[in-house]
Amino acid sequence: MIDLHCHSTISDGALLPTEVVQLAAQNGCTMLALTDHDHTGGLADARTEAMRRNIRFINGVEISTTWRGRSIHIVGLDFDEHDANLQNLLANVRHGRIERAQHIGDKLAKKGIFGAFDGAMALATNPEMISRTHFADWLVQNGHARNKQNAFSKYLGDGKCAAVKHEWADLGDAVRAIIGARGLAIIAHPMRYDLSATARRNLFDEFVALGGHAMEVHSGSCQLNERLNYALAAERHGLLASVGSDFHRLGDYSGGVLGACPELPPICKPVWDYFRSS
Ligand code: AMP
Ligand code: MN
Ligand code: MN
Ligand code: MN
Repeated sequence: MIDLHCHSTISDGALLPTEVVQLAAQNGCTMLALTDHDHTGGLADARTEAMRRNIRFINGVEISTTWRGRSIHIVGLDFDEHDANLQNLLANVRHGRIERAQHIGDKLAKKGIFGAFDGAMALATNPEMISRTHFADWLVQNGHARNKQNAFSKYLGDGKCAAVKHEWADLGDAVRAIIGARGLAIIAHPMRYDLSATARRNLFDEFVALGGHAMEVHSGSCQLNERLNYALAAERHGLLASVGSDFHRLGDYSGGVLGACPELPPICKPVWDYFRSS
């Protein structure tokens, strides 16, 4: 069983890196990549635990990027985590999250919701990685939203009242940094972006021109018809295919089962055939 996209307390997940590996092992995982947002601080602990449990461990990260004013996530896999240029890019992306969170808090205060910034910060294990997930959790806990999804559709989603425009890494810079660190670049959860068919094709074309390698054909709880659609899209663009649960915490219905993604449609070329690390 393979899972090449999940999160720990290093970013916006609920489990420690070692706990993520333990749960993946329980679920029958044989190959795992930990892909925290913009941070590789969990890889060492996760790798040690994975070796203990006979899981093939792959270095991972999910980089927040901006493409034509939109936020697109790029997963890097099997890279050299000590590459200075990649670490420099990640540090730059992390910088600015706290300021952005203050703006989100201010916007919620204008709607009569007070204390969100302090509340969300208290939920973030790693303050420099404060994310909208922490705001969503706080909004749910304090009765301002029914669930996480509702917190995004009411307040935090793009274009909603507490949305704050933010410049992440340039998409091209992120892909080049991953390739420079001898890794593979993957478009995360393409089915989640609100893009027209043309914009989606442009994104894939540009990603291929930059030297990007793959797209996630399965993400989270997506269904067979979506997997088939993206398997065809990957084939049309000459991209390899990846799979990831995008697990953040237990009971999160938008995430899949940690460590145990469905099989790829047969037309796909798996990204893991190109991994260097053992
Ligand atoms: P940020 O990096 O601060 O913009 O937060 C993005 C994170 O919020 C993603 O990695 C997801 O974990 C979560 N997220 C984004 N959109 C949604 C959504 N519609 N429903 C639930 N979680 C979401
Ligand atoms: Mn997340
Ligand atoms: Mn993502
Ligand atoms: Mn993710």
